Amino acid sequence: MTGKIGSTVLGYPRIGPRRELKRALESYWAGRSSEAELRETARELRAGTWRELREAGLDSVPGNTFSYYDQVLDTAVTFGAVPPRYAALGLGPLDTYFALARGVEAVPPLEMTKWFDTNYHYLVPEIGPDTEFSLADRTPVEQYREALEAGVTTRPVLVGPLTFLLLAKSAEGAPETFQPLDKLPELLAAYAELLRELHRAGVEWVQLDEPAFAADRTPEQLAALGDAYRQLGGLAARPKLLVAGYFGDFGEAVRVVAGTPVEALGVDLVTEPSTVDSLSGVPGLRDKALVAGLVDGRNIWRTDLDRALTAAATLLGLAGEVSVGTSCSLLHVPYDVEAEDIDPQVKSWLAFAAQKVREVVVLGRALKDGREAVADELAAARAAIDDRAGATRVRNNRVRARLESLKPEHSQRGDYAKRREAQRKSLQLPPLPTTTIGSFPQTTDVRKARAAFTAGRIDRATYQQRMRDEIKRVIELQEQIGLDVLVHGEPERNDMVQYFSEHLDGFISTANGWVQSYGSRCVRPPILYGDVFRPEPMTVEWATYAQKLTAKPVKGMLTGPVTILAWSFVRDDQPLGETAAQVAMAIRDEVQDLEAAGIRVIQVDEPALRELLPLRAAQHGAYLAWAVSAFRLATSGVADSTQVHTHLCYSEFGDVIDAIVALDADVTSIEAARSRMEVLDDLNAVGFGRGVGPGVYDIHSPRVPDAAEVTDLLRAALRSVPAERIWVNPDCGLKTRGYAEVEPALKNLVSAAEAVRREL
Ligand code: GLN
Ligand code: ZN
Repeated sequence: MTGKIGSTVLGYPRIGPRRELKRALESYWAGRSSEAELRETARELRAGTWRELREAGLDSVPGNTFSYYDQVLDTAVTFGAVPPRYAALGLGPLDTYFALARGVEAVPPLEMTKWFDTNYHYLVPEIGPDTEFSLADRTPVEQYREALEAGVTTRPVLVGPLTFLLLAKSAEGAPETFQPLDKLPELLAAYAELLRELHRAGVEWVQLDEPAFAADRTPEQLAALGDAYRQLGGLAARPKLLVAGYFGDFGEAVRVVAGTPVEALGVDLVTEPSTVDSLSGVPGLRDKALVAGLVDGRNIWRTDLDRALTAAATLLGLAGEVSVGTSCSLLHVPYDVEAEDIDPQVKSWLAFAAQKVREVVVLGRALKDGREAVADELAAARAAIDDRAGATRVRNNRVRARLESLKPEHSQRGDYAKRREAQRKSLQLPPLPTTTIGSFPQTTDVRKARAAFTAGRIDRATYQQRMRDEIKRVIELQEQIGLDVLVHGEPERNDMVQYFSEHLDGFISTANGWVQSYGSRCVRPPILYGDVFRPEPMTVEWATYAQKLTAKPVKGMLTGPVTILAWSFVRDDQPLGETAAQVAMAIRDEVQDLEAAGIRVIQVDEPALRELLPLRAAQHGAYLAWAVSAFRLATSGVADSTQVHTHLCYSEFGDVIDAIVALDADVTSIEAARSRMEVLDDLNAVGFGRGVGPGVYDIHSPRVPDAAEVTDLLRAALRSVPAERIWVNPDCGLKTRGYAEVEPALKNLVSAAEAVRREL
């Protein structure tokens, strides 16, 4: 027998229950506190987590789950994969680490991208033929010892070698044919050294995370996975190894890993419940311990413990040992629902990280000692599940009846040629019309007014007046700059999803439900618990106020259904497509009300369209079908003369490019400044024939582009797309920038558009 892990979680939040790490980091970065103070906060947070997890009754407590910024960056640093330009800065270890994460004056940070299909972002390691892997940093060993001193035995968690290399990119200057995976043998030598050191330190179990195999992989990559774990498993003196696959069905990788000497596998049984069936008959699994990921690590609902136990029972015959775990690390959920002062009924349906640990413990005990041993807990869980299933506030029959009565024509706008003509007449825009993506810089005054209103320090009328003053200022500024399609500037929105969730039935907001997005940045996703309904207009008042101030068209600004879902905790009791359609109907109502109020251009932002793409290509079609139909449902209820825009925050469309065509928006604005308009050729290749606004101002940097630069970009755009389809706009919203940059940049954008118009 291989030894048992017992009940466990694959990882835990680290930002601190009250975001202590965020504060400590930002204070250190601002030079207000010392490295020693930061390290002390970190140590306290780690000790708190270990203690909490052990006292909750987990058999195995994960270790090394703390990070100052990101676990992928930690892995790079552990194994010495620090590109020379950072090492050359001559900074101490911690500041070098932060230079990689955040950049310094002369050296930009590593690229950051989304961690699989979550809203967490990791730093992309750069690996080249010259990267020399070594055991450069011993944090995993030190933290094991630190926990031991605090009286807790931990199971160090590391990003696995395959996932690390598959997420890395080739360093600049590497030959075309080079792939980071080519370096696997050298990286494995460094992992082996770490495993030996951990073994010497007394570590019993190490967890290696390989979520990369929940996505489609080539036969070569699967073979490399097998080779790697045969090699690590073959080490003479090493800890026992748990290889964890999550964020979906581990698929073929289960067989591959089961065929190696590792002692245990972790599988995600939540994302794809059918994974349970695929585990039967896997050769070698009977000799392994299985950590059954039965408690959802990514969503905030209480687990149906009865159902989880049934699934666990099916597994009992399949593997040598079955332990209960989470589907993935709990990094993706907030700390503790007890910290929330929210509606008690909804609260009783929720489980955040602390509650999920408890669920794992209860399930573990039920497996070990029988259901009777935890009868009370099972009964309480059952009562909450039943209450939620039968709750009237979850179901809104009006919403359901409306959706059922929908016909295909509700998702179909008029013929595009006719639309274009009607919009031309209605809007009377010059060629190459100029506009912005929606938000203007959020000044301290605006933020203060919003905070004061939320806290009840100013009344609605005062708040409204402050927002109106800001809108007036922004409209006047745009007139003065000479933009053609104006925006109200979004001063009333703290966040493009939260604003809508606060105005829609079916959502609830938390006060402390923070989740790490990257580094010290946290988000507080709203919880979508019931049928979505719009009780009253959400944006019409602001848009119409803005429109009254100007003769130019003001663009109404909404967030699309897919993005609202992507940045919320969504219900798990109905298909996502159904929820999307409900949100789409609410947005559709808003679109129609904006039109009725005289708004002739309406933008529905869908920056998350690509983010929600399933990890496996086989599921792309089904996802894109509901995503596209939700957008069309939201935007098809208006006359031909109303111009629908959409905005997407990126320039590499990959598998979503056909879906972008299918959205059928009249105008699509995209990021393009950095990639110098290349994206237009991709759009041409799939026959995109609508208006397009390739960004000509990179708003991610404080740099002000001069008019000549914007002129060049526009000329480049005109080589791919005829002038009558081109719009001139920045890459994205201006919310995070300052007026000192935005004003001259927009002036340059307008004069560039004017100059290029003269060349037409
Ligand atoms: N309209 C939003 C803004 O301008 C769009 C933001 C986004 O694309 N993420 O801020
Ligand atoms: Zn954007």
